[in-house]
Amino acid sequence: MLTGATAVGAAALAPFAAIPVRAAAPLSDKQAAGFYRYKVGSFEVTVITDGANRAPLPADLVANATKDQVNEQLAAAYMDKDVFVGPYNPIVVNTGQKLVLIDTGTGEAAFNQSKGATGQLLANMAAAGIDAKAIDAVIISHYHGDHVNGLLRADSSLAFPNAEILVPAQEHKFWMDDGERSRAPKGRMEGLFTNNRRVFSGEVMKRLRTYESDKEVVAGITAVATPGHSWAHTSHVVPRLGQGVRAGRRHPRAVPVRAQPWMACLLRPGRAEGGSHPPPDLRHAGRRADAGAGLPLPVPSLAHIEKSGSGYREIPVPWSSSI
Ligand SMILES: [Zn+2]
Repeated sequence: MLTGATAVGAAALAPFAAIPVRAAAPLSDKQAAGFYRYKVGSFEVTVITDGANRAPLPADLVANATKDQVNEQLAAAYMDKDVFVGPYNPIVVNTGQKLVLIDTGTGEAAFNQSKGATGQLLANMAAAGIDAKAIDAVIISHYHGDHVNGLLRADSSLAFPNAEILVPAQEHKFWMDDGERSRAPKGRMEGLFTNNRRVFSGEVMKRLRTYESDKEVVAGITAVATPGHSWAHTSHVVPRLGQGVRAGRRHPRAVPVRAQPWMACLLRPGRAEGGSHPPPDLRHAGRRADAGAGLPLPVPSLAHIEKSGSGYREIPVPWSSSI
């Protein structure tokens, strides 16, 4: 019996005899695909990260805090000082009728230039099981490169070839206006005008339709004017069963906002491009039931927004293992 047991044991172990000569597993050397899914009423939302940009921290990133104060908070959070990290998080809303992408990230050309740090939308969308050809509509919140450049692939063909492209009417008018362009300050604003003329031409213009605030952009998704971050920045509300999801970027944040009421003050006007603006429409902010999506926060890029003192703060929603 001993002999038999030994023979069986040796046979069972035989496949493992090769372990000592097995090659080491190669390092992945890149981040896992970033996306996160949840329901809002009957709609299914998929946040898909486009990656994150690292840039020198601007002195005036936070309107009512000094650069030293921002750096103090970065250090307290074990984050790099003097570095602004801006995550880009477009979202896909499946309304049951249409597959709608809100904002497009920095684009495939940026993916190549940044060696994959940004411009990840198409790759992560594929990883999430969503075919770019199946997108019925792309809604744009505002005309900054990290929201519109992804309309085009690196060869300037359409990234979402079957989609209607829906843009805020006032934002489109501003950036396409030759007079506004001629008055634009040199540098960033001048570059934005040039970039927007490049993106909004050719095939993009053939598919373009403008939308107005306080109206449905597609069935179930309503535009809300939130100007300030850009001339006519627009957010989008999906009201279902008393919940709301707001997509669209207000202001970049490099610092965790949980304990920093001054960070939420970025919602205030004062940094509008191209002139003075009425205050942003915050009628949807400050209600506990509201959730913000597509925020410049790490995935899942979802947070509650509530009043805090004279401003607002965000309470990030933690990852959930079920939808
Ligand atoms: Zn922007």
